[in-house]
Amino acid sequence: MVPAGKLPLQPWMSAPATLAVLAALTGQHAAARFVGGCVRDAVLGRAVKDIDIATPHAPPTVIQLLEAAGIKAIPTGIDHGTITAVADGRPFEVTTLRRDVETMGRKARVEFTDDWVADANRRDFTLNAIYCDGDGTLYDPTDGIPDLRAGKVRFVGEPSRRIEEDYLRVLRFFRIYAHYGKPPADVGALQACRMHAKGMAILSVERVAHELLRLLAAPDPATVLSLMQEYAVLAEVLSEASDFERLRALTRVDTDAPDPIRRLSAVLGPDVAKPEQVAFRLKLSNRDRVRLVAAATAAIPPSPDAATVRRALYRDGSEAFLDQIYLRWAEAGGRIGDPAFRGLLETARGWRKPTFPLGGEDVLALGIERGPRVGDLLEAVRRWWMEGGFVASRSECLAKLRTLAGA
Ligand code: ATP
Ligand code: MG
Repeated sequence: MVPAGKLPLQPWMSAPATLAVLAALTGQHAAARFVGGCVRDAVLGRAVKDIDIATPHAPPTVIQLLEAAGIKAIPTGIDHGTITAVADGRPFEVTTLRRDVETMGRKARVEFTDDWVADANRRDFTLNAIYCDGDGTLYDPTDGIPDLRAGKVRFVGEPSRRIEEDYLRVLRFFRIYAHYGKPPADVGALQACRMHAKGMAILSVERVAHELLRLLAAPDPATVLSLMQEYAVLAEVLSEASDFERLRALTRVDTDAPDPIRRLSAVLGPDVAKPEQVAFRLKLSNRDRVRLVAAATAAIPPSPDAATVRRALYRDGSEAFLDQIYLRWAEAGGRIGDPAFRGLLETARGWRKPTFPLGGEDVLALGIERGPRVGDLLEAVRRWWMEGGFVASRSECLAKLRTLAGA
């Protein structure tokens, strides 16, 4: 294959763990190349997250070679040729080159191969089918580099046929477009997505949820969700999404790292039943479900005083509080410089949870016998301390305890 350029040296490429995995896989006749997200991001100069490696070695050989080099090999997806190599605690997904095999006119099966072009042809988009050697030499069999630079998300081959092989590609199209695309999106691809949107019903909810959350982490998810709605795709995967304006305003004011759960919460709108439904349907983690539900249950009044703010922070923690602030801010129009919300943010960021200065032994020291009354008294003082904004000292809390205990 003819090289298509060279990447400047990347820290992730020359990291000892990466070099060890490549060295283990690269023999005299065979090769291993980076592919997928890491190459795509490196070409754009974006930070590289996880590293995918493609190799002509068959999976059992991959395991042997890695283990011979003292690298842990986990057969995470051995049926489709993926072994996870773990070096220095870092995972590398090593996948054997594959080609799609047609059965009765449909590419339903895959088969291992040593043909790099065939492997590129079974990938989803041209910008995801760029390969790179250990020394940075790029290979681009589907002309993905110019597409990537121009922000064109283009299917490898005919969109409609490629979607029929795997309906997740509809959602991947919008996810990748949200992160790498420049408008206008490829009309042929959009029409194929519309035509096959209902096909996504057969997908596992885990795959759908994974792509949806990645999409929500994009720079401007509201615009892409609207496009999905226009092409009848959104109703098949997130019919509960309704408040694009709130999501747009949230994305504008929230300058923390993009948080898909907070953004999901924004787009669901104020209906308190939706978060529970969505969390259940998408099988989100318990933590995410609790967060979504809490964010929809407005606990903070529109212009809270300092004590209310501190109480909310103490009760809900700063993550839940920040969710609330950003959502209220978005609802209030999302003016970036809004001093009221800026002030709330600062309070939340500077918040350190105070420690209640009393314990059970302080109650016992008053001569009160062990039993439920100890906990009740302690809780009553704690509530008083909290309602007062956490400013009472230990001696003031002890005085309150004595009064309540009648001691
Ligand atoms: P990132 O890991 O940054 O989210 P990625 O493109 O690496 O992006 P992965 O899910 O790790 O995404 O997939 C690795 C590569 O495998 C992709 O770049 C693409 O070439 C190929 N791929 C993944 N999913 C599909 C699919 N459903 N159909 C075809 N090819 C796919
Ligand atoms: Mg990847």
